[in-house]
Amino acid sequence: MKYIFVTGGVVSSLGKGLTAAALGALLEMRGLKVRMQKFDPYLNVDPGTMSPFQHGEVFVTDDGAETDLDLGHYERFTSGSLSRANSVSSGKIYEAVLEKERRGDYLGVTVQVIPHVTNEIKSRIVRGGEGVDVLITELGGTTGDIEGLPFLEALRQFQLDVGRENVCFVHCALVPYIRAAGEMKTKPAQQSTAKLREIGIQPDVLVCRTERPITQEMREKMSLYCNVPVNAVIECRDVEHSIYELPLTLAAEHFDEVVINRLGLQAKPRDLSVWENILSRLLHPEHSVKIGVVGKYIELQDAYKSIYESIIHGGIANTCRIEIKRIDSETLENGDISPLADLDGILVPGGFGDRGIEGKILAAKYARENKIPYFGICLGMQISVIEYARNVLGLKDANSTEFKPDTEHPVVDIMEAQKSIISKGATMRLGSYACVLAQGSHAKSAYSEDVIRERHRHRFEFNNKYLDALKEAGLRIGGVNPDSHLVEIVEVENHPWMVGVQFHPEFKSKPSKPHPLFAAFIKAAIAKKEA
Ligand code: GLN
Repeated sequence: MKYIFVTGGVVSSLGKGLTAAALGALLEMRGLKVRMQKFDPYLNVDPGTMSPFQHGEVFVTDDGAETDLDLGHYERFTSGSLSRANSVSSGKIYEAVLEKERRGDYLGVTVQVIPHVTNEIKSRIVRGGEGVDVLITELGGTTGDIEGLPFLEALRQFQLDVGRENVCFVHCALVPYIRAAGEMKTKPAQQSTAKLREIGIQPDVLVCRTERPITQEMREKMSLYCNVPVNAVIECRDVEHSIYELPLTLAAEHFDEVVINRLGLQAKPRDLSVWENILSRLLHPEHSVKIGVVGKYIELQDAYKSIYESIIHGGIANTCRIEIKRIDSETLENGDISPLADLDGILVPGGFGDRGIEGKILAAKYARENKIPYFGICLGMQISVIEYARNVLGLKDANSTEFKPDTEHPVVDIMEAQKSIISKGATMRLGSYACVLAQGSHAKSAYSEDVIRERHRHRFEFNNKYLDALKEAGLRIGGVNPDSHLVEIVEVENHPWMVGVQFHPEFKSKPSKPHPLFAAFIKAAIAKKEA
């Protein structure tokens, strides 16, 4: 069993998660069994209760864990599906340690960061790596953060426990170009490596995030100052077209080879054809469409990360170039819906709270009336149910009780089981549930399967009291949960492609395996544009 730890220096947003994920992809392309894991030094038990402004998207795993969005990168770049064990925050570690203390597991001793917290961290590494050849663990934050110190200390101890030859430290450093000086600077890389060495960790590989190519001279300089072999100084330049170039650009730097040699791994020659194929479809499109994403956190880069990626995957499936237009739903509420006019498809993503809801309902109405392909995800499905009830069924007051608790027509309502829950953390309907697809539905023809499983994260549901009336009015039920009979998919009859899903298909789409619903949505958008 081999362990790779990925740390980052100087600044966040270095693309550490993507680097780790791309390394995972490269090792898989050499026939190794890889799993990825994220450590986050913050004290929230999970990011489920954090605002997208704080944290970006919350990624949901099959087993219902609400995790850091880097797990999304991991699942998109590697083949495995991750679980609760692969996302660990300080909050989770301390929660476990304090629980043990109360239970009396440490009876008689003083409970301390070393060894109790560090032991808990190390046990998570061991557990995270069960059943694979290589575990890649990324540590969030930057070296030197107070919060991250217990994790780094645990990593330092871990290499002693399992043997230095079984551990590879990869450090991502910033190599900035300073305009005033007209040159690139290696000092931040030197400083953050020095910080790691202070803690007792010597990086084996230095990944240099940079806008421009680094010279041989700079490689030699960083090798000398950071105490890393010169061939283990890896350039990671900003990608030109797509993040899916990363496995190829890092392969050109022999990143995988360096790591494999360092760890003495038995690996096959690399086969990059999967990534070459993805890239060639991205770079040589046969079609192009413009997709509007109508949401609330439009200005944030990361709030709808998996949605944006999945739309691009839908493009890959159809060899189609995608232009994504981000539309703040609130701006539609004054009645000016002109931002929707040039779209070939409209997607309304998930969300919480009543801000911008009416704008989303207008977008759904526009899509339905103008026969523009529409994809509603979670809240986006609830929106299309409300819109249909209001404007086709004529229930003017139709709403979700999330937005109007005393509405006369609660076509979307809170689940009975949710009514008594007051605690906010990890209490939604979370994780993977089954859905039986209806004969003749868009969903059925997209998946070509009878029963599917998709991930959930919500409290409210389609209200089955309105099922018959809505069906009669032309709303097709595309799929239901076989156990609870909750409606999972709604579709509009007499429309080329208007589909709402209560689950989150975006968490299961990969560039190498575009999600069938995203592929079908983009296909419908192409058909609309080229008609
Ligand atoms: N706010 C809605 C609910 O809780 C939708 C949630 C979502 O879109 N993830 O049901």
